[in-house]
Amino acid sequence: MADKILSLAKRRGFVFPSSEIYGGAGSTWDFGPLGVELKNNVKRAWWRSMVQLRDDIVGLDAAILMHPRVWEASGHVENFIDPLVDCRSCKHRFRIDELPDGERLIDAWRAGSVDLSSIACPRCGQKQLTVPRKFNLMFKTHVGPVEDSASVAWLRPETAQGIYVDFENVQQSARRKIPFGIAQIGKAFRNEITPGNFLYRSLEFEQMEMQYFVRPDDAAARFEEWKAERMRWYVSLGIPEAKLRFREHAGGELAHYAKAAVDIEFAYPFGWKELEGIHNRSDWDLRRHSEYSGKDLSYFEEATKDKFIPHVVETSGGADRGTYAFLLAAYDEEPDKEGIRTVLRLHPALAPHKVAVLPLSKNEKLTPLAREVWASVRGHVMTTYDETQAIGRRYRRQDEVGTPLCVTVDFDSLEDRAVTIRERDSMAQVRVPIAELTERLRERLPGC
Ligand code: ATP
Repeated sequence: MADKILSLAKRRGFVFPSSEIYGGAGSTWDFGPLGVELKNNVKRAWWRSMVQLRDDIVGLDAAILMHPRVWEASGHVENFIDPLVDCRSCKHRFRIDELPDGERLIDAWRAGSVDLSSIACPRCGQKQLTVPRKFNLMFKTHVGPVEDSASVAWLRPETAQGIYVDFENVQQSARRKIPFGIAQIGKAFRNEITPGNFLYRSLEFEQMEMQYFVRPDDAAARFEEWKAERMRWYVSLGIPEAKLRFREHAGGELAHYAKAAVDIEFAYPFGWKELEGIHNRSDWDLRRHSEYSGKDLSYFEEATKDKFIPHVVETSGGADRGTYAFLLAAYDEEPDKEGIRTVLRLHPALAPHKVAVLPLSKNEKLTPLAREVWASVRGHVMTTYDETQAIGRRYRRQDEVGTPLCVTVDFDSLEDRAVTIRERDSMAQVRVPIAELTERLRERLPGC
């Protein structure tokens, strides 16, 4: 399945390896004409549910480069590290958690008592693993011409810190009372030791993160609410419930900031893996930023006269991992008279093109009307137009990239000013007057 998606993604212009003509940059990806539509739609659907439809969340777009002290306060300089081991025999490199019984080994490593002498290399079977080394996952760069310690800057490994440092600016300018949230979508960078599995783990990716600021005594309940809400979002956009599950983090596995954490996992072709994390971060981040910046980030609650550092419930999803999961869940093949019909059963809100306008054949009598129909639809939803090859082939081409509706203009259309709408999933066809077309399309495109 992963191979089929990879091939479809490349062939139809969803995703290409970055810098491919140079042999690829390794675990970075470019989104092609259809991919950028799909990923934008994933982000738009998230923004719609998190910001547009709620009265308690506002948006933010913070800078990627931040003051270097931010990453000391956040704990990333000290703690955002992976323990690395090399096999002396086959030279393969692993993160400890990739070894058999990895979670126990991570716990032991954190406790300073890991012993790998009896562990066989999963690649070659030799018991020749090195002692673990620490490796910080943040990309380091320098601001200005001098590369010294005073000019160090980090590419952000998560978008959340931009939200914390702007907490007071947002709260006051948007006149928000707790509980309220701040949502942000943006690039994050991690120097992953073992990137791979297509979009699942790359060096540069986008996160869709929301930090919900609450009273300390409210955090546990809000954590449960957000778990349910985030799961509901994936299901509402077409991922079958059977392909999603929660996984609670065990105590030793919790990130340095987390009080409680749960992953929403998706059944990727390479196993159940994290799609999104929901974290109770307590007051860790705002407290640390208060300490490191000297700016008191506590909040005064008018109604109760309580003063406290807000606690945070975070929802942190990946736009790329999400896009990949939506593609995998939508992929379907069914037998038909020409062999196999490949269909991407994407939710209409996510489909790159909502409507394809297709003249029955490439014919100088049909083209003007078909283009007129196209012009009448394209202002409303994202559309495409295709007049080459037989109509059956063109339907298949649209099915394969998930276009929910095709509008066919035929020779009768010239007389009766009507066209045929053909549905991707059922392949049902219905004739509608051109004058009513946009309305009839709208009814069939919920959430677009
Ligand atoms: P993992 O354990 O898989 O590395 P994580 O627990 O480090 O993930 P978080 O720090 O919770 O991930 O990041 C939140 C979200 O950001 C993840 O759920 C995922 O969707 C996305 N994400 C994190 N790292 C990557 C990556 N290297 N490539 C693509 N998406 C990522």
